[in-house]
Amino acid sequence: MTTAAAHLDYVLDNWPVLQDAVTTPAKATGWPPAMGVARILSEEERIRAVEERLDTDPSAFGPRPVPIAVDILDILRAVEQDLVGLADEMAAAIQRPVLPTMSGGGWRDDAHRQLVLLSAKDSADPRRWRYSGQRDLARAAEWIAGRVAGAPGPFRLLLPVEQVRVDSVVQACADQVRRALGIVGIARREQPVPFPCTGCAGQLVVCGGDGQPPTVECRDCGRTWTDRAA
Ligand SMILES: [Zn+2]
Repeated sequence: MTTAAAHLDYVLDNWPVLQDAVTTPAKATGWPPAMGVARILSEEERIRAVEERLDTDPSAFGPRPVPIAVDILDILRAVEQDLVGLADEMAAAIQRPVLPTMSGGGWRDDAHRQLVLLSAKDSADPRRWRYSGQRDLARAAEWIAGRVAGAPGPFRLLLPVEQVRVDSVVQACADQVRRALGIVGIARREQPVPFPCTGCAGQLVVCGGDGQPPTVECRDCGRTWTDRAA
């Protein structure tokens, strides 16, 4: 499987999850970890940090469903537009025009009749990318995946420069989906912790939000703490 195909699969696999998140945002958040950062640090550190945490933790009042849904919706729309736009762009370049029907003959002319039938069949070929009708993300992703794979149809193969263009757009789309998953708390995320590492006084981050046990890691010395109760 090519990189582009993997990116398209990733987008398609996660699309229903994100659509669910738009309609039912409240259930989607797993962030910040419910256990709280304080439980996995020493009592001394906890006491030192409590006052600061009360003022600085932006997530202290729980998830905000409406902004999350709006963010996700914006990303979904942008990704869909990008993929449909990419299909438009590539189809304009590589898709063969529908066979013309003009032969000068009438319906009694057998050659003309054959041509009309062929043209109708060619026009209706389900492998064609359409500039109207069904133009959603799933259809665009499927069509682009077919071109990346070199599947047969009324197209020529992608040129290397077109392949590069496709790779670039689908990778950006996959990145956007990854970001959206992070917003709904499905991907693992990091957030700075407002007190220093006990070993080196470096920057700590809490990692979690993907359903796995959260951990605290030091960016500087690499020490890791996990929730012992998890
Ligand atoms: Zn450290």
